[in-house]
Amino acid sequence: MRTPVFDAHVDSLQRALDLGDDLGSVTGGHLDLVRGRVGGLQAVVLVCWVDPVHIEVGAARARCSQLLDQYNALLDRHPKLVTFGGNGALVEEARRRGLIAGIAGIEGGHSIEESLEHLEEFFEGGVRVMTLVWNNHLSWISSCREGAGSSTPAGLSDFGRDVVRRMNKLGMLVDLSHASDQAFYDTLEVSERPVVASHSGCRAVNDHPRNLSDDQLRALGENGGVIGAVFCTPFLDRDCAQALVRLRASAEHESIDAGSEAATFFARASFLQEAAPALPLERVCDHICHAAEVAGVEHVGIGSDYDGIDHTPAGLEDASRYPALAAALLERGFTEAEIEGIFWGNMARAFARATGEGTRASELQRTSVTLYGHRRT
Ligand SMILES: [Zn+2]
Repeated sequence: MRTPVFDAHVDSLQRALDLGDDLGSVTGGHLDLVRGRVGGLQAVVLVCWVDPVHIEVGAARARCSQLLDQYNALLDRHPKLVTFGGNGALVEEARRRGLIAGIAGIEGGHSIEESLEHLEEFFEGGVRVMTLVWNNHLSWISSCREGAGSSTPAGLSDFGRDVVRRMNKLGMLVDLSHASDQAFYDTLEVSERPVVASHSGCRAVNDHPRNLSDDQLRALGENGGVIGAVFCTPFLDRDCAQALVRLRASAEHESIDAGSEAATFFARASFLQEAAPALPLERVCDHICHAAEVAGVEHVGIGSDYDGIDHTPAGLEDASRYPALAAALLERGFTEAEIEGIFWGNMARAFARATGEGTRASELQRTSVTLYGHRRT
């Protein structure tokens, strides 16, 4: 089944920065715009994820800017393929023109280095989505991982609340994947706009801290938000997670060294994709079915986490394969309209409401000179 696709979370910019991949041509990774187009991709959030090893002041922001430069360079290099998806109107306009709307995201609030000014600079630089926290706890928000010390708030601190308010005001989509339960609820309390959990699953299907509880799913539905169903197999399935833990500890996995850290990650991912037991894509359907039952079908979307994961479900190996998942959902009894909502409409609606659907495209484009030396159009 063909449907336009809005993928709310991919990590492919790292391949561009660290491996020199051109995402406008076919790469060896999970997602590039050529294979994405084959799969129906019409909007994609390309995130700037900064490894917390760069946590010292100045370094996280600098690395994030380098990744954002890759995003802007991609838009400059391939104007016939991809265009700036700065708000809901621009995303729809891109779709009408047959282009992919490229949306820049930040994964992990450490990149704003505790400064609302830096947040605004990144907005000016084109960023329209921020995953508030990654797996490392911050001074203003706790992650879903264990080990939060006394310097971490239970949920969102006063500064964290200011970050959410400023994002609402700027027109930046708040993403709560990776956040602690308390941070999730604190954010829903503050945010005046829909929020998303861009790449998560359901705890009732597989009990994992990166997945959402039924109570969270209901709260997300009431907020008008969307959960983006993730393709990360350890979040989807316990047996698969255990098999991957064993394989990651194996001598064969350990011995893979492709030079740089990034190259090694992707080389090891290739090994795991081959060596780990195949997880049927039906398992992704299980999470989508559950989320649709609990949050409501209009609150479910897609957030693959392509190029940020080291093992994908069978049949969803790369961005040309979204139609296989759509076909499986049709088999499960979803209507075509519901499936189009899951792949496109629901996430597009939440993004438009968060980024200010009323802003005229021409106005936005006039202010699209970025801080980092790139002019988009
Ligand atoms: Zn993530």
